[in-house]
Amino acid sequence: MPARPETVVDLSRLNLSTGEGKRIELPVELAPFELGGQTYLADPTKPQARLEASRHSSGFAFKLTLPVHIEGPCMRCLDPAALDLEVEAREVDQSSAEDAELRSPYVDEDELDIGRWAHDAVMLALPTQILCRPGCLGLCPDCGEPLNDADPAQHEHEKPVDPRWAALDDLKLE
Ligand SMILES: [Zn+2]
Ligand SMILES: [Zn+2]
Repeated sequence: MPARPETVVDLSRLNLSTGEGKRIELPVELAPFELGGQTYLADPTKPQARLEASRHSSGFAFKLTLPVHIEGPCMRCLDPAALDLEVEAREVDQSSAEDAELRSPYVDEDELDIGRWAHDAVMLALPTQILCRPGCLGLCPDCGEPLNDADPAQHEHEKPVDPRWAALDDLKLE
């Protein structure tokens, strides 16, 4: 398994004094997304993200915006599926705080792990069902063929006869 791509922002290089803010744009490489047993990839894998950072007396506040195009298999029929998302996320890090709730899990010393943050933010923004089309009909439960462009009449399969009834049929023959 390849190493997870890493994109890190050095906060000290933003040179922000208290009360100041800065907006930077940078490409953020996104690792594949695992969802419902399937793998989804961002295309491009390095979308251009916008980071707004502002410095407060107690730490930093961040806002991340990132457009992503995701591709992978439809969760019902496995045909190719794609979706576009405009991901937005916010983080606060109060470096002096003892309380872990006020620390951002993506900030370590002067480094903001924007790659991991962006990955998590996209994960949260993804719908639970990724489909090739709204209301995808999925696969026929009897023969496993895709149902979307199929004639429903071709999938009215004979249901197997309940073995208990089959046994009764045998009895009648005697
Ligand atoms: Zn589908
Ligand atoms: Zn069928």
